[in-house]
Parts: sequence; structure tokens; C-alpha cells
Amino acid sequence: MPKLGWVKFRAGRSLDGETLRSATLSREGRHWFLSVLVDDGRQTPETHASPGSAVGVDRGVAVAVATSGGELIDSQFVAPGERRRGIALQRKLSRCAKRSTNRDKTRAALAAVRARERRRRLDFAAQVAHRLAVANAVVVLEDLKITQMTKSAKGTIESPGRNVAAKSGLNRAILSKGWHQFALALASAARYTGTTVVKVPAAYTSQRCSACGHVDPKSRESQAVFRCTHCPHHEHADVNAAKNILAAGLAVTACEDQSRPAGRARSPKQEPAGNREELLLQPTTAAPAA
Ligand SMILES: [Zn+2]
Repeated sequence: MPKLGWVKFRAGRSLDGETLRSATLSREGRHWFLSVLVDDGRQTPETHASPGSAVGVDRGVAVAVATSGGELIDSQFVAPGERRRGIALQRKLSRCAKRSTNRDKTRAALAAVRARERRRRLDFAAQVAHRLAVANAVVVLEDLKITQMTKSAKGTIESPGRNVAAKSGLNRAILSKGWHQFALALASAARYTGTTVVKVPAAYTSQRCSACGHVDPKSRESQAVFRCTHCPHHEHADVNAAKNILAAGLAVTACEDQSRPAGRARSPKQEPAGNREELLLQPTTAAPAA
């Protein structure tokens, strides 16, 4: 590798017969990871295996992901014991003397707990994204930026939130992070299946009735229940939102010209590299294929 010379690593799988494009070195705690980008020669299919299939996905408040098909996909990323351990470590950290060895140790232990949670989140996002991309030619998501401003941690009248200001920031960070990872995983999975990913503004998707189209904040009976004030329609609030997202996405795809290549996400922004160091193995102008 440039600057480092020869680096020994343990391969997660065989790289025989694949063209290496670049390698990314990252560190997590005491461990170093080498991610190798390879060109596997696979092309994004022109058409999806099941054309005409479409799904809307809502980032749920009550559950992690809700689909317009009525599916509620949820996962716990932290076991109760791990949560307790995380809190205990945090307390311990605050009592540690500054610049002490114990403080470093506690910090490393806390980082390990957080890293495990982060990996589970990533795994969950990748699995759900793969499942949705395989089953659907079109997947519609709410656009993140707008949602960030509209969701709140205020809670409901029955169960008002505590520490609203602090929590809203935290919620936003956690939820938006998971959602961003999910959107990235979906864009990646879509390149293998030919799925089109559409992003729509999230405004009113949680307040609009998916049956009659009536918009009323009062229809949102609770965090989990949507009961229309205009018609007899009622269902899970996140599923109702997912249906609205699907309808908005289909409206977008219907009026757009079809010349765009299939499977290309609408906003192909790359994730910021963060603290990773990108090392290009060979100067190549070819765009990295899926
Ligand atoms: Zn209605």
C-alpha cells in the first residue's frame, strides 16, 4: 500500500479473479480494518425481476421501518444488559481522573459497547434493504433533510417527553443516522436488482389519510395509531405514512421521463469518508461498478 508498504491482512473471503479498485484502511478501537473495493463485473439489470412492484417505506417512530404493504420491521440493537453496562461505564468514565490509564480503559470499553450496537444497526439496514430491493422494482423513501425538522421528541399528551430539548437532539442523531445508513444500503442493493429508489418530501405524510387524502394533525391519534377524522379509515400510523410515501413516489415516477438508466438512485451522493484514510491502489478513471 502507498506510504505503508506491504500490509498483512486476513481476508474475509477470496479475492481471486476480481479486479481490485481501492482499499480503505480504518481503525476501530485496537483493530484495523481493510475494506477492499473490487470490480465483480456485474451489471445493474435493465429491468427489475418483478416489474411493476413498488413499496413505500416510512422511518417509524414506534418501529424501525414500516412498509406500505403493512409490514413492520423492527429490531433491538441493544440488549437490556448492554444498556445497563453502557450507563455504568459512562458513570465510571465521569469519575475517572483525567489523563489516567483507567480513564483510557473505560473509554475503550465504552467504545466497544457502542461499536457492537453500530454493527448491529448496519447489519439490520443491509438485510432490510436487500429484502426490499429484491422484492420491489420501485422503493420510495422520505427525504431525510425535511424530516429532520418535522419530527419531534415532544411525545403525546398522554405521555409527554422528558428532557425534550436534549432528547430531540439525540433522537434526531440516532434516527437520522440509522435512516441514512438504510438509504445507503438500499442504493447499494438497488444496483444489483435494478430497483429504482425514489425520495419524496416527507411533509404531511404522517397526517394525511391514505384512504381519502384528508390532512388533519388530529388524525394522528397516538404515536402508533392513525384514525382519520374525515372517514372511517384507521390503521398503524407508520403504515399509513408509508402508503402516502408510496403514492407520492409513484406520482413522481409517473411524470418523469423514462430515459434515466434503471437502478440509479436519485441522489448519488457519497458518504463522507470521515476519519478514514482512502488509499487508491491504482489511478483509475473507471467508475467503481457495483
Ligand atoms: Zn380518511
